[in-house]
Amino acid sequence: MTVPVLSIDGPSGVGKGTLAAWLAAHLGWHLLDSGALYRLTALAIQNQRVPLDDELAVAEAAAGLDVVFAPDAATGLQTVFLNQVDVTDAIRTETIGNAASRVAALPTVRAALLDRQRAFRRSPGLVADGRDIGTVVFPDALVKLFLTASAGARAKRRYNQLMIKKNGANLADIEREITERDQRDANRATAPLRPAADAFTLDTTTLTIDQVRERALELLTISLQSID
Ligand code: C5P
Repeated sequence: MTVPVLSIDGPSGVGKGTLAAWLAAHLGWHLLDSGALYRLTALAIQNQRVPLDDELAVAEAAAGLDVVFAPDAATGLQTVFLNQVDVTDAIRTETIGNAASRVAALPTVRAALLDRQRAFRRSPGLVADGRDIGTVVFPDALVKLFLTASAGARAKRRYNQLMIKKNGANLADIEREITERDQRDANRATAPLRPAADAFTLDTTTLTIDQVRERALELLTISLQSID
């Protein structure tokens, strides 16, 4: 039997990462935070002073990433190491997020990260979140979720997260950055952000985290029963 994959795609700040980490911990499955790989590439080229427009050098940096993801068994949240340095917080800044979305528009970078992502598919199952998981990375995923929420709701969630971490934040700036990133991700030529034809789209604008978790588990349970 092939190892089941649950893919969770959608735009920035929609809560894919939080849902994916929770589901992986809940199910005892592996977790792939594909966005982290693009963020790590952005951080690596920043550290190595590789210019963003040198596509070959950026792809080389992506191919050569020395990364370790260390998940917490209870929460599923991961500590991320690049060259043995803990970069968990360093890759979450808006600056790195924006650089990641530029890096992610380069086809050679996407190609360089493809096998690395597919290697995460290990027994008993994988929860993977990103932009092209259901369309490109795992087109044969057992369940494909596509989460959406209004740009305003996503900006508010991100704002609240930043305030909890006591980082200064400006709601209007966050919404503008989220919208810019969405546009770049949706309009790029390679692996643009869009739901797979067989994805379940869930608009989370007015849903609580518990409702989203419940819906995702429901879909997964039905699909797992159908392959038993
Ligand atoms: O999901 P996250 O915000 O961490 O992703 C950072 C950036 O990486 C996204 O804006 C997107 O451009 C890119 N990305 C992608 N494909 C994925 C995951 C992330 O292009 N599967």
